[in-house]
Amino acid sequence: MDGLFKMKVHVSLGERSYDINIEAGLMEQLATMKEFKKYKKVIALTDSNIYRIYQKQIEAAPFLKVIQIPPGEETKSFAFLQQVWDHMVAIKLDRKSLLVLIGGGVIGDLGGFAAATYMRGIDFVQIPTTLLSQVDSSVGGKTSINHPQGKNLLGAFYQPKAVYIDPNVLKTLPVNEFKSGLGEVVKYAVIRDESFFEYLRESASDILALKSDDLIKIIAKCCTIKADVVGIDERENGLRAILNYGHSAAHGLENVCQYKGVFHGQAVAFGMDVEMFIATRRGLVLEKDFARQRAVLATLKLVFSVPSFAMDKYLSAISMDKKNTDDCLSFVLPKKIGEVVLLDNINYEEIAESTKNTLRCPIFN
Ligand code: ADP
Ligand code: ZN
Repeated sequence: MDGLFKMKVHVSLGERSYDINIEAGLMEQLATMKEFKKYKKVIALTDSNIYRIYQKQIEAAPFLKVIQIPPGEETKSFAFLQQVWDHMVAIKLDRKSLLVLIGGGVIGDLGGFAAATYMRGIDFVQIPTTLLSQVDSSVGGKTSINHPQGKNLLGAFYQPKAVYIDPNVLKTLPVNEFKSGLGEVVKYAVIRDESFFEYLRESASDILALKSDDLIKIIAKCCTIKADVVGIDERENGLRAILNYGHSAAHGLENVCQYKGVFHGQAVAFGMDVEMFIATRRGLVLEKDFARQRAVLATLKLVFSVPSFAMDKYLSAISMDKKNTDDCLSFVLPKKIGEVVLLDNINYEEIAESTKNTLRCPIFN
């Protein structure tokens, strides 16, 4: 059965609380969205790929203007932020206006920061269109642009008024972008929910076939886990760090590859394999669980070939990312499927050995 139900996830942050609405076909309803009617001026920001595919739906909505920028991470820059601000000024948006963001993580990060800064903050709504942004970056209020010296170096915590997620838009998403989102989905299961992990294993073929009921379930589950964590620790002073499972090694890899040729979710899959193996070597987690994680990555077809890289550069990228004492780094490591701990005594030798182990695995070749 397909397309029978919708789900709502509440993000509980006091007066900044909001709902994430997940429903197949929402993109077809832009013209009649009640949320937009509350505002005098509503404008949208999207990228030219999405505009090309969804022009009819976007043009049917009551947007005063649709700002289009080119697709790609390069637009998360000061120059494009300025362009967005310039449009907002030209249209004379005021504090009672709404900015609607239709796109992946790039549009969400850049547009969220534009909303956070324009007149000290105006309302915005997210319509995330990649699996990665639906399960991850659209939840939690992190907005940012990149600086030449570092990704996401400039930004603000700023929550949207609502999020609308249409799983149907994933049908037009390139398959590698979709699988990239799945890397993050597996992460949520491993850090927080063993039965969700089993569901992913059992439903892999339906998920890969983009069955909308399964997509709604996994998106809602990931949003719920993220909303729970962010509800407890909005500004990453503690618990929110568990969302970084797999990300230390992932950032090392992305850094040595200069963010080219590896999708974020693929890097996270690689990172989870490395990090779970560190835990296995320490006897923190059973080898059986390490094998289960690998099996799920393979079943979800999260296989790719890792470009060759210099181990010393990779280790130093990880150490820069982790800012800890000289000889040890802090990592989020699994104790079992569904539970992680934060350890701050991980050394370079064990990261290197675990990374070599991952590089020998057929999934990453
Ligand atoms: P991420 O969420 O991974 O950060 P981006 O914002 O970089 O994603 O988008 C990845 C690419 O996918 C971009 O080229 C973007 O234009 C394209 N894209 C985003 N959503 C869709 C969609 N639903 N259908 C087709 N292409 C899309
Ligand atoms: Zn991530």
